[in-house]
Amino acid sequence: MTVKERAIAVDKALKKIYPDAKISLDFTNPLELLVATILSAQCTDERVNKVTKGLFKKYRAAVDYANATPEGLEEDIHSTGFYKNKAKAIRNCCSALVERHGGDVPSTMEELTALSGVGRKTANVILGNAYAIPGVVVDTHVGRVSRRLGLTKEDDPEKVERDLMAVLPKKEWVSFSHRVIHFGRQTCKAQKPLCGACPIFKQCPWEGKGERHPA
Ligand code: SF4
Repeated sequence: MTVKERAIAVDKALKKIYPDAKISLDFTNPLELLVATILSAQCTDERVNKVTKGLFKKYRAAVDYANATPEGLEEDIHSTGFYKNKAKAIRNCCSALVERHGGDVPSTMEELTALSGVGRKTANVILGNAYAIPGVVVDTHVGRVSRRLGLTKEDDPEKVERDLMAVLPKKEWVSFSHRVIHFGRQTCKAQKPLCGACPIFKQCPWEGKGERHPA
């Protein structure tokens, strides 16, 4: 089985388990998604959604975040952790949106990654989910699962992204990322993956995988 064949087989199998996999962050526009994505670093999506419920009512435009006091914004996002860094990232990013883009979130990889604190992962989240522009989101789950499945040998997220784009149809890039994120959280966990009950056990070439449960 080639890597491409395995990637397609895995994608097909995961599609059956997660037919409607989508992003778990709540948002109604690109700015909300950008802020939620920044807040989601080292925090669960559930926690972020609780915080953004009130946050998005208080801060409705990029200029609101740009003009917020550091202390005020820090307090509003406190429970997502690393709140000082996150508040600074949101304020800097939104100041750049106001200065360079009239307060709008741009829709190209180049413009997004030129914003303070926005890397390719965040940019692909925005492009794929707010603008329907295909991209592979490589977070910790996508990186780990892809290496175990032999879809890449790389550790660098940008190289993992490149390898996955090379073996998956473009139309699957966004949904594949969502499916693998769910699968990585629920089954192919970092510690003690649930290999015994894994639905893609047969396709997995990882030498560290566990025993399969008898049928
Ligand atoms: Fe992950 Fe184990 Fe399934 Fe391989 S067999 S994909 S390591 S859960």
